[in-house]
Amino acid sequence: MSQVLTAATPAPPPLVALTEDEVLFRDNVRQFANESIRPHVREMDEKGVFDPGIIQQFFQLGLMGIEIPEHFGGAGGRFFESILAVEEISRVDPSAGVIVDVQNTLVNNALLRWTTDDQKKRYLPKMASNTVGAYALSEAGSGSDAFAMQTRAELKGNEYVLNGRKLWITNGKEAGLFVLFATVDPSAGYKGITAFLVEKNFPGFSVGKKEDKLGIRASSTCELILEDCRVPRENVLGEVGKGYKIAIETLNEGRIGIGAQMVGLAAGAWEHALKYSQERKQFGKNISEFQGIQFQLAQMATEIEAARMMVYNAARMKDAGMNFVKEAAMTKLFASQVAERVSSLSVEILGGVGFTKDYPVEKYYRDAKIGKIYEGTSNMQLQTIAKMVMAK
Ligand SMILES: Cc1cc2nc3c(=O)[nH]c(=O)nc-3n(C[C@H](O)[C@H](O)[C@H](O)COP(=O)(O)OP(=O)(O)OC[C@H]3O[C@@H](n4cnc5c(N)ncnc54)[C@H](O)[C@@H]3O)c2cc1C
Repeated sequence: MSQVLTAATPAPPPLVALTEDEVLFRDNVRQFANESIRPHVREMDEKGVFDPGIIQQFFQLGLMGIEIPEHFGGAGGRFFESILAVEEISRVDPSAGVIVDVQNTLVNNALLRWTTDDQKKRYLPKMASNTVGAYALSEAGSGSDAFAMQTRAELKGNEYVLNGRKLWITNGKEAGLFVLFATVDPSAGYKGITAFLVEKNFPGFSVGKKEDKLGIRASSTCELILEDCRVPRENVLGEVGKGYKIAIETLNEGRIGIGAQMVGLAAGAWEHALKYSQERKQFGKNISEFQGIQFQLAQMATEIEAARMMVYNAARMKDAGMNFVKEAAMTKLFASQVAERVSSLSVEILGGVGFTKDYPVEKYYRDAKIGKIYEGTSNMQLQTIAKMVMAK
């Protein structure tokens, strides 16, 4: 006979429940973002340059090594805390959010899972204390079809010699370490792809053009140039020919991070729309008193809450060691749709001034667009979801 749950059985916590430590962590990050990032957001966006002082503060606060164990100088936290940090920072500035996101959910995550003991000792203390990381998979000819990459790695003695170009690399300008993918054997297809740990001062490595973008303008997006770039053999990450596995598995986790970035962005835009609606008067009343505006704010809040629950649930699944591939894809797909809708409506709630740079909502609207593009476009997420929900 199946066991019957009685009222005496403790109910599992709600999906949005946070532990006391998580609440404290979230509130600290929120305060830091409001006090130390917010005053610089507009200028960083206009100049298209991220303030290096804020990156230093990220390191000082332990936000660049959230899951790195304490004995390597990290904060020894969980993936869920990385997600909370990305959400809270993105609420103020999605460019700042993606710096912390790439560091934790892509680079540190790949290092924690795939490095040898020697690599851990060499790199984890740096990632926790002073080195920004970047994740270099895409190329001009290989985006959605990521494994069609052309960058070549040839073993010569004790070194791999890398030649090719990477495109669209977030943190390219600030990074000291690149998790970079190249093929050791183009005829082997995806089975030739290998991940390398490339330091920015390795001979033959340079950072090329920085993109001039629609949104997340303060986050650097750069071309990487590899011209006979020499990488010591001991800097192969994981096994030769298994880079495809590292790329796929790391991006699964990264997508939850982008979901968190988009939820934070939507919440940030919504807060501005609410505040404005409670101050702006038309027809002798605050516009927040019109049901038309109230319903828009209510719909937006509902969508943000739904997306947040998806993000938190996927992150909890990851921390619980469950398979979360479908949930991560759904999270990114949905949260990026919500971010676009909410930021767009926020512009409308502000009316004419919403369309100007005098108020921050137009920036949220511009920043939202990237959520549907990077770490796999929406079509790629739908492809993954379709495969999983339609599998017999
Ligand atoms: C700001 C920014 C930051 C980035 N950061 C990084 C980074 O740090 N590291 C990194 O490696 N990359 C990064 N990227 C690259 C990003 O991941 C790619 O741009 C993305 O994967 C899409 O590739 P693509 O641009 O080549 O577009 P394409 O793959 O050419 O896609 C073009 C269109 O075709 C659609 N499409 C393609 N194939 C299919 C299909 N089979 N079925 C249906 N539709 C399809 C796509 O959905 C899209 O709408 C970044 C990009 C940007 C813009």
